[in-house]
Amino acid sequence: MINKKTVKDIDVSHKKVLVRCDFNVPLDKNGEITSDKRIVESLKTIKYLIDNNAKVILCSHIGKTGKNISLAPVAKRLSELLNVNVPLLKDIYSDETKNVIDNLKEKEVVLLENTRMTEMEEKNDPEFAKKLASFAEIFVNDAFGTAHRAHASTEGVTHYLPSVSGFLIEKELEALDNGINNPKRPLVAIVGGSKVSSKIGVLNALLDKVDTLMIGGAMTYTFIKAQGGKIGNSLCEDDKLDIATEVVKKAKDKNVKFILPVDNVVADKLESGVKTHITKVDEIEDGYMGLDIGPETIKLFEEEINKAGTVVWNGPVGVFEIDEFANGTRKIAEFMANSNAVTIIGGGDSAAAVEKFGLEDKMSHVSTGGGASLEFMEGKKLPGIEALLDK
Ligand code: AMP
Repeated sequence: MINKKTVKDIDVSHKKVLVRCDFNVPLDKNGEITSDKRIVESLKTIKYLIDNNAKVILCSHIGKTGKNISLAPVAKRLSELLNVNVPLLKDIYSDETKNVIDNLKEKEVVLLENTRMTEMEEKNDPEFAKKLASFAEIFVNDAFGTAHRAHASTEGVTHYLPSVSGFLIEKELEALDNGINNPKRPLVAIVGGSKVSSKIGVLNALLDKVDTLMIGGAMTYTFIKAQGGKIGNSLCEDDKLDIATEVVKKAKDKNVKFILPVDNVVADKLESGVKTHITKVDEIEDGYMGLDIGPETIKLFEEEINKAGTVVWNGPVGVFEIDEFANGTRKIAEFMANSNAVTIIGGGDSAAAVEKFGLEDKMSHVSTGGGASLEFMEGKKLPGIEALLDK
């Protein structure tokens, strides 16, 4: 149970409210937004604040520190979506910014420039946090995608302002918490992606909760090698073979049905247009690598998805970015979209895949936070949420 106050539990009318959004949207080389999902997801909180006569000051990071990417395209898109002008305040230390915010009227919305224009953001610098907090009387965190990071605009500001969550964080926590901790059973998890090492925490945590755990993606080959299979040139973490063996043992001890791929699509190069063929997952010839799950595995995964009460998916089961190796990931997305189970996509690459296949609306929940949802599933405390007021 998540017990944090939300924007509904605090009086925002006539107040200046600083809202930390996740506007870290993908941009193409012309600086155009390629997916506005994160902006759209933030609208519910922003509209609530407008409707309740707040003075709204939005902030977010975009891109990495040092890249100095501007939020100007986001200000433009927000203005279109809200149908009001959302000015971008370019320098949070300038007199002009202070002036605009001092004179902000009810229902007006402004956007502060990228919080990662300064190194102080990721260092959770108290002076920078204090500066951000000085603009407002209330802080609303709605940036689920960065909730696992204690940065100045996520955790730092909470030391200076009464702080609550927005509707997106509330929705994310509810969906993930129900899916993992109070699921309709059987609970089936699919974990893919590239490395055992980056998913070991989530694998261990899931083994305490799920009925079935299915593995896909490059991490398959660390498991297969640990069991003595021939994996050719597939990706493998040779220093994680013991961990893979332990995961399999834990699954057995916990009575979790543990399913590894049985066949796969292989090629001698990882590039589009390359010739591919199917092999057993533990009989890959030298010079070839496994890059997607094969037809028998797809069938196995389909059966489990069809039996599930809840399916949680994190990490693509193949190199879905290249058409030749996208079929497995597409099929998993389609089976989930067509199943009656509660379907939860744990952000990051699997969310990008579901979006690429146009199946987002058919899922119960597609998380906006890859790292954050992974850490939540691992049972870790998310600092940006821990710091909010308790109910
Ligand atoms: P992660 O960030 O760990 O979730 O890994 C996601 C990445 O894993 C995606 O970019 C996929 O292209 C990649 N991936 C999935 N399956 C494989 C595979 N069999 N071999 C190499 N890379 C893979």
